[in-house]
Amino acid sequence: MAQKDIDNKISAEAYFVTQQHGTEPAFSGDLNDNKEPGDYLCVCCGVKLFDHNSKYDSGSGWPSFWEPNDEEAVAYNDDYEIGYLRKEVHCSQCSAHLGHVFDDGPQPTGLRYCINSVALDFVPEEKE
Ligand SMILES: [Zn+2]
Repeated sequence: MAQKDIDNKISAEAYFVTQQHGTEPAFSGDLNDNKEPGDYLCVCCGVKLFDHNSKYDSGSGWPSFWEPNDEEAVAYNDDYEIGYLRKEVHCSQCSAHLGHVFDDGPQPTGLRYCINSVALDFVPEEKE
C-alpha cells in the first residue's frame, strides 16, 4: 500500500505504532479487554492476523494472543531498541509494526504475542 493511502486511512495513533514502531500506553487500547468472538485484522491492509480463540488475558495491558491466525500472516525482526533482544512482530503483507512476541505465554505454544490495540481492526463474528 502506498504511504499516502495509509496516511488517509488510519488514525494518528495507528500511524505512530504501525509505521514508526511506536507503542501505545498499556491499558489504553479498546481491544485489550475485548472478549467477543471475531477476527483481528491488520489496521493497514485488512489481512486477518489473529483469531479470538487464541486471545487471552495476559494482564500486560495490551491485547495478547498465544498464536497468530496463520504462521504466514506475521513476520519477525530482531529488535535491540531498548538494549536487549526482543522479537518484533509485523504484518507479513504490508510490514505494519504490530508489537512483540515473548516466550512467557500459555500452552500449547508458550508464546505471548503482545500486540498494540491500534494496530488491529476487530470484526465481530456474524451472529446467526
Ligand atoms: Zn498489514
